[in-house]
Amino acid sequence: MEKTRLLIVGGGPAGYTAAIYASRASLAPVLYEGMEPGGQLTTTTVVENYPGFPEGVEALPLMDGMRAQALRFGADIRRGVVMKADLSARPFRITVDNGDEIETDALIIATGATARYLGLPSELAYRGRGVSACATCDGFFYRKKVVAVVGGGDTALQDALFLANTCRSVTVVVRRDRFRGEAALARRLAERENVSVLFSTRPVGYALENGALSGLIVENGEGERTLPVAGVFLAVGQEPCSAAFAGLAETDSAGYFAVGENCRSTVPGGFVAGDCRAKEIRQLTTAVGDGAVAALAACAYLDAQHVGN
Ligand code: NAP
Repeated sequence: MEKTRLLIVGGGPAGYTAAIYASRASLAPVLYEGMEPGGQLTTTTVVENYPGFPEGVEALPLMDGMRAQALRFGADIRRGVVMKADLSARPFRITVDNGDEIETDALIIATGATARYLGLPSELAYRGRGVSACATCDGFFYRKKVVAVVGGGDTALQDALFLANTCRSVTVVVRRDRFRGEAALARRLAERENVSVLFSTRPVGYALENGALSGLIVENGEGERTLPVAGVFLAVGQEPCSAAFAGLAETDSAGYFAVGENCRSTVPGGFVAGDCRAKEIRQLTTAVGDGAVAALAACAYLDAQHVGN
């Protein structure tokens, strides 16, 4: 069976950064980048708060650059979804969706998170046909149409700004009486004439007409009403992609891995980096920071193992 010293799971900023550090430390890591190389960042356009880019930086080329940098130093980057990690044995045994199995002395999980849905009736049926969790992917189909964005975090604010460029109007539905996201984004949104915000308002259902989405039903404590919209963009947070790695570390109530100092799992040789880790601030910068920390901690772990052998 194939054997490596360090295997990294996840092709987002945390995974690529871990691969850059580990490959520069001559570990020749194997990285499985899953179905969406580039991670969640590929669903956004310009990143304005990544240091070193005063005018902002396009997300896709930035991710391509991180990937190329890891390749340049010798990382072995592969397409493939890791389905299972057997952490009960040493070395760990990893199973990939194509049936390949590979053993590794150390493992960095950087699988990130994926968009959450509301769980309302008909939501799944209208996914991609009126209900979307990716404004930058699907916004194009709603040009000159009336749409709603659900959520009050940075994603909702960015999505609403993005959609306001092409849609006739955008209504942002926020369940609390204030935004959770950055004040700077909220100020920019307030300047858009075709954007309105409904605070203290919850989505409770989808209105359907002739088999197509015709509105979002909301309630605000005084009653329900239907916003007539052609598209609903959900930006209500994420869920961690952690299911395949049960037992790697304790999880919080939402399923994020709660790891210790330097991204160390309670299973020696296991590390968790980026958005799948339990933490308060999930930013590109913090994901990149996690990737570096996890890789250096994995190097130290492997060095110590080597000395011990
Ligand atoms: P988030 O910060 O968790 O915000 C989720 C929003 O959805 C909140 O307003 C939340 O309301 C609302 N919400 C959750 N469940 C809901 C429900 N069932 N019905 C109605 N509303 C609901 O998620 P996010 O905006 O995706 O951001 C995730 C992380 O990525 C954050 O740390 C954010 O800062 C970061 N991010 C950064 C950038 C950037 O670097 N520029 C861009 C995008 C995201 P409550 O406030 O009431 O909980």
